[in-house]
Amino acid sequence: MITLRLKANRPEDCERAAALLRQGALVAVPTETVYGLAADARQPTAVNAIFQAKDRPRSHPLIVHLHDWEEMQRWASIIPLEARVLAKAFWPGPLTLLLHKSSGVNRVVTGGLDTIALRVPDHPVLLPLIKRLGTGLAAPSANLHKQLSPTSAEQVHKQLDGRIAAVLDGGPCRVGLESTIVDLTAGPPRILRSGPVSRQEIEAVLQMQVELPQTHQVAVPGNMQQHYQPHTPLYVLSAETLTARARTPGRWAILTHIPATAEIAGADGNPGQIMPADKAGYARELYGALFQMDQAQPDAILLERPPQSEQWHDVNDRLQKAATFIE
Ligand code: AMP
Ligand code: MG
Repeated sequence: MITLRLKANRPEDCERAAALLRQGALVAVPTETVYGLAADARQPTAVNAIFQAKDRPRSHPLIVHLHDWEEMQRWASIIPLEARVLAKAFWPGPLTLLLHKSSGVNRVVTGGLDTIALRVPDHPVLLPLIKRLGTGLAAPSANLHKQLSPTSAEQVHKQLDGRIAAVLDGGPCRVGLESTIVDLTAGPPRILRSGPVSRQEIEAVLQMQVELPQTHQVAVPGNMQQHYQPHTPLYVLSAETLTARARTPGRWAILTHIPATAEIAGADGNPGQIMPADKAGYARELYGALFQMDQAQPDAILLERPPQSEQWHDVNDRLQKAATFIE
């Protein structure tokens, strides 16, 4: 299969992407979080093909992307008040709500479960595309199973060329990390996956306490310890250890984020990058930086441990899944 390269700023290319999705083909699409591998969620054969293209186990449920929060009613059987409140506050945006699925939704989408994950993405090209299709798009991250989530069309091509019909290039993703997932199906709201919408923001809107998994737990299939990995071993180290290790013989790719250690990033011709010091900037660049370091095939990627405050919870969660070793 030849994977088409489509441009999101060309209306005829968006039309082509829509036509392919209507036919049941797979198209990687830009969202504000990461690129998604989309199929029409109403076509079980098309959804099935997502699992095949990604080598993803069929028990790992997919997120369905909608163009408007009122569409929730078509996909979920019960809409609790919290869902309406959170949707009004954060959609379009990087928050996924877990609800009970409506009876018409095929279980191929939900990994066999009776719950469904829904989100309205905040993307100027994707939203009108979903609206035009008049359906929901099942779209997990557009990476091969257990590899890094792509935040550019180039990264999608590197992993999925020849496996999918097209990639719609909408430029780099604005947020860069996968959405926050909140479970509203049982008991008080619970965060299953931390993400760009923080616990504090959710608690402020709901005016109640919300549980956040402190250490990583296997809460659901598809949310597992080993995930999002580069091919190269990734070591997350304190600034001191990183500095010492970087001076030992070897080909080290170095990702730092504070000026004190910046001088060793890229020293001796080794690959390296100084990451933004602010959380949003860091999150936006993380997967792209790991991807680039990985391409250089060093002995290991040495990454300076980011701040451990709750604000950085999503970044540290993804690093925990990606790292071979964390100091
Ligand atoms: P991805 O878009 O690749 O990050 O994958 C979507 C993730 O959303 C899954 O791996 C699960 O962690 C979560 N998810 C989606 N649907 C459900 C569901 N019905 N129940 C629990 N978790 C879900
Ligand atoms: Mg994923």
